[in-house]
Amino acid sequence: MKTFTKILKYVFLPLLIVIVAVLLYISLGFGKLDFKDDFTVTEDYSALYPDSYESARDNFRTLSADLHATYTDVQYFPLWVSSETDSDLTIDICYIPAQGDSLNLLIMSSGVHGVEGYVGHAAQQLFLENYLSDEFLQNTGVLLLHAVNPFGFKYTRRVTENNVDMNRNSPSTPDLYETRNEGYSQVYDLINPQKEVRIGSLENRFFFVKAINEIRKASLPVLRQAVLQGQYTYPEGLYFGGHKPEPQIEMLEPVIVQITQPYNRIMILDLHTGYGERGKLHLFPNPMEDEERRKLESMFDGFDIDWGDTDDFYTVTGDFAGFVGSLNPGKEFYPMVFEYGTLNSQTTMGSLKSIHIMILENQGHQHGFASAKDSMRVKADLLEMYFPESENWRNFSMQQTRDVFDVVLPRFTMQDY
Ligand SMILES: [Zn+2]
Repeated sequence: MKTFTKILKYVFLPLLIVIVAVLLYISLGFGKLDFKDDFTVTEDYSALYPDSYESARDNFRTLSADLHATYTDVQYFPLWVSSETDSDLTIDICYIPAQGDSLNLLIMSSGVHGVEGYVGHAAQQLFLENYLSDEFLQNTGVLLLHAVNPFGFKYTRRVTENNVDMNRNSPSTPDLYETRNEGYSQVYDLINPQKEVRIGSLENRFFFVKAINEIRKASLPVLRQAVLQGQYTYPEGLYFGGHKPEPQIEMLEPVIVQITQPYNRIMILDLHTGYGERGKLHLFPNPMEDEERRKLESMFDGFDIDWGDTDDFYTVTGDFAGFVGSLNPGKEFYPMVFEYGTLNSQTTMGSLKSIHIMILENQGHQHGFASAKDSMRVKADLLEMYFPESENWRNFSMQQTRDVFDVVLPRFTMQDY
């Protein structure tokens, strides 16, 4: 008995204290989103970033109207997205036809994931102000799709009003919505808690312990793939791809078909944020046939490509770039996703942080928040994850965009490349 008391006193209790201290330390650190960015930047790009959906759209419309003054055949118009709560949601289109031969078409899409539209808008504006020229338009047309998911952009969500992830909802084949994601059901409870959000709750503070237990059972790449690839079973769940095309897809389809029709070589740059190494512009295409893959690699030669089927990344079903490709069968097609990294989600800790923010945001949307403070904190974290406040991050992101544009755009417009 004495020995037992001794063990309890000198071994078990101190050990328990150490374990609790470590867990507390990790959980406190886990809740923080501060980074000391010190990327080397040479120019200030802060003027490219809007402060709301409305200001982004105003700006885009002004830029389009200015272009129309120079090139009279520019077409720009809004597509109204119907909503139960808001009568002023639009996807804005700006199409600048090639001025000579209609050979190449460059498409840039922003805000497929609503809140990611801030950075997407900045890249579109960067392009219009610095790359569009008579020379560029000689054999190349430009189609800009602004705020593909305006509801999410305006209301700081990644998904649409129907809780649908548009980058899982865009059909390349009609059977998309029958896709089964077996792995998802196994993590359903972890990522879709059925109660209101209370940030201070123990369950929430120790989310990462539960998550690490799941990682122990599966492995991070397997878990990441199950969660992120998209699912078509649970409308209230994270990464829901819908049961049918969202209204935006149905509206865009005829527009895209008509505008792309005269062009034989098409490149789409679909602009996203939130995944990957903080401060890095990742080139992150969905996997494709070998021949197409080789061509895409050659187009982006000199830059690293993060293929989705490697360990740190993931593949998706129903991606928007693939959908645009499916509307243009038989043409030379270059689908590329720009992904501006924010929370180091290629690491275990960053990955858990990212998914935790997504979980809380969807949980709050479905089941409410315990307090206004909880709600504000979750919205703020979501915005920070997809549109970091750091000026250094913002400048560096556009600087890397320029680096890619400088090399790839001339390559794309060169006829014999
Ligand atoms: Zn995205």
